[in-house]
Amino acid sequence: MNEPNELIDWISNYSDTELRSAAAYYDRMESFPENHVKTLFGLELFKKLYSKEDHLPYKDYLSIIRKISKNFPALGSILLTQESHSIWPLVTFGTEKQKESYLSQLLSGEIYGSFALNEPITGSEIEDMDTLTIETEDGWVMNGKKEYISNSPIASVFLVASKIQKLSGEESLGIFIIEKGTVGLSVGDIEKKMGIKSLPVAGIELNQIELPKDALLGGKEDGATQIQSILNRNRLSVAAQSLGIAGGALERGLQYVSYDRNLGKRLIDMQSTQFKLAEIETNIYASRALLLQVIDENRYDSRFVAMAKLAASDLAIETAESIIQMTGGYGYMRNNDIERFVRDAKITAIYGSSSNRLKRVIAEPWVKKE
Ligand SMILES: Cc1cc2nc3c(=O)[nH]c(=O)nc-3n(C[C@H](O)[C@H](O)[C@H](O)COP(=O)(O)OP(=O)(O)OC[C@H]3O[C@@H](n4cnc5c(N)ncnc54)[C@H](O)[C@@H]3O)c2cc1C
Repeated sequence: MNEPNELIDWISNYSDTELRSAAAYYDRMESFPENHVKTLFGLELFKKLYSKEDHLPYKDYLSIIRKISKNFPALGSILLTQESHSIWPLVTFGTEKQKESYLSQLLSGEIYGSFALNEPITGSEIEDMDTLTIETEDGWVMNGKKEYISNSPIASVFLVASKIQKLSGEESLGIFIIEKGTVGLSVGDIEKKMGIKSLPVAGIELNQIELPKDALLGGKEDGATQIQSILNRNRLSVAAQSLGIAGGALERGLQYVSYDRNLGKRLIDMQSTQFKLAEIETNIYASRALLLQVIDENRYDSRFVAMAKLAASDLAIETAESIIQMTGGYGYMRNNDIERFVRDAKITAIYGSSSNRLKRVIAEPWVKKE
């Protein structure tokens, strides 16, 4: 599979067959879909995304996240976390030594990474962050707590956002690379969630962690820029995941309304059903066009990225909600995928920043500066 199209077609088919039949099981068991994750890493998805030869364009990668999420949104979460929360920051900001230490294993899926920004009291508000790393003569000492960190229970490498206090007394922000097993680092129990149950999420505690000088990502106290860039990268992939969820819910809805219920009557023959589904289909195309435009025009600034995620996540939630309503008791039962889509869709408007926070980003240029 050397051509991106062949890879996309293969994954699309794999998603519609293997993932479609497996997703409900993993949701019910709340377990990590190890064999499917390995299969996808085995296709060298991430290696291709970051290689010059045999390159997989970013747009095609997002299309793959969409196609996986159409059947198994939690698997989409596992993969997009690996890409946006560990591979992307290392490729974009890491020093040569940092890349050498972790990158090839993250790309191949030998190890997992996670990015920890969110905190129990202050959430993801950078200015209020409590985690503090103090510079010492020969390195750093970090203390803090992080909450709801994707892939942290399986991670070997943690990228942790922190306030920094320099020896000089100056304060700044940075991201530190911490390896699993470092004294003082502990990962909490796996959280029980409403949806995307196969994504392992936990809190982490950072107690008097001693780090070498070169644990600072990129060797720079450039945390504000780095965090924003990671959030933007993550938001684009969550937008793709959202479009997958909306498409998956629509497909299930269409199947249901096309059944011959009795005496040749089908719900799809009613104009009100046609109107609703036509609106959903149109909105999926419109939201997808916005995401593609952001990428095609290189509009990676936070406002456009926020608009793409906001539109797509709203659409995922509204679509799943409309389809469960349209399919009535059938959709409400756990032996089909529709109720799972309702539960899985909700996260898209929460992680990678909640929708109201994104609206603040979009409105920012219109607001008076203090
Ligand atoms: C499953 C899951 C996985 C996660 N994975 C990660 C991860 O890997 N790394 C990480 O760092 N974090 C992660 N998070 C944390 C996630 O990013 C935050 O939960 C998210 O940003 C929302 O932040 P919050 O919980 O502090 O809520 P807030 O952002 O405080 O939002 C709470 C409510 O307040 C509203 N609100 C916020 N600001 C305003 C405003 N100005 N005006 C009006 N209303 C407002 C919001 O819309 C929302 O309804 C994860 C969370 C979950 C649930």
